[in-house]
Amino acid sequence: MPERQHATWGELLRDAVEKPGRMLAAYTAFHNYSFGNALLALEQCVRRNLQPGPLNTYRGWLERKRQVRKGETGITLCMPIPFKRTTPMDDAEDESAEPRICNAFRFRAYWFVLAQTEGEDTDVAPIPGFDLDTALRALSITRTAFDEINGNVQGFARHREIAVSPLAALPHKTTFHEIAHVVLGHTTSEKLVDSEHTPRHLREVEAESVALICCETLELDGAEFCRGYIQHWLKTEIEIPNHNAAHIFAAATSILKAGTPATGSH
Ligand SMILES: [Zn+2]
Repeated sequence: MPERQHATWGELLRDAVEKPGRMLAAYTAFHNYSFGNALLALEQCVRRNLQPGPLNTYRGWLERKRQVRKGETGITLCMPIPFKRTTPMDDAEDESAEPRICNAFRFRAYWFVLAQTEGEDTDVAPIPGFDLDTALRALSITRTAFDEINGNVQGFARHREIAVSPLAALPHKTTFHEIAHVVLGHTTSEKLVDSEHTPRHLREVEAESVALICCETLELDGAEFCRGYIQHWLKTEIEIPNHNAAHIFAAATSILKAGTPATGSH
C-alpha cells in the first residue's frame, strides 16, 4: 500500500482541536483557501519542514515570475473537478435530459508554497478584516430579540434568525455557535436553544467546532471554552466522522468568507 500523502478531515480537525494555534496558523498562511485546505496545506508544510506561506500552482508561480525548485513535490489540496452527469432515461428521445455539471472532489498535488520556489519577490496578500454584520447580511441571517426567560440560556437559533443573551458569558462564541447552527442547516425544522451546558450531541459538536475555528482565527474570546467541550467529546464519545469534519470546515469557511467579501475562495 502506498503511504497516504495527506491527513483525513477528521484527523485534521482533531489535530487542530488538540493544538491551540493550529487554526490561526493555517488561516494566517492560507486565508484565501477553504479551511479544510488551509489545514491540509499546513499539515503537509509542518511534516515536510516547509515554511507555510502563499500557495500557487506551477503555472501560477511562473506567471508571478517564480520557478518551482527542481525536485520539489506538490502540496495536495482537495479541489472540485467538474463533470457532466447525464441522468439515465428510459426514453432516449427526451430532449430535456440535458447533462448537468456536477463537481467531484478529488485530492491533487498541484500546489507549491512560496518556500519551494525561487525568482522575483512576490507580494503576500494581507489578511482581510472580518465584519460580523457583513457576514450576517451575506448569509441572510438576522438577529432577533432575545426572549428566553430561562437565565441559563446563552443564545438560540431558529430558521435564519439568531439571538444571543445580553448576559451571555462569551457573546462572540455564542454568536458564532448560533450562526453555525443556521449555516449547518440545523434550524430548518426546529429552534435550537443553547444553555450554559451544551448538550452532548453531534450537532452541538459541529456548531461548537465552527465557533472554535471562528474565535481562534479571529483571535476572539471563547476558543478555549469550545476546545474544552470538543476535547471532552473526543475523549468520551465517538470520533467526529470525516463527513461531519468536512461539513464543519465548509461552514466555518463560508462564515469567514461572508465577513470578508473582497476575497476569492479556492
Ligand atoms: Zn447549540
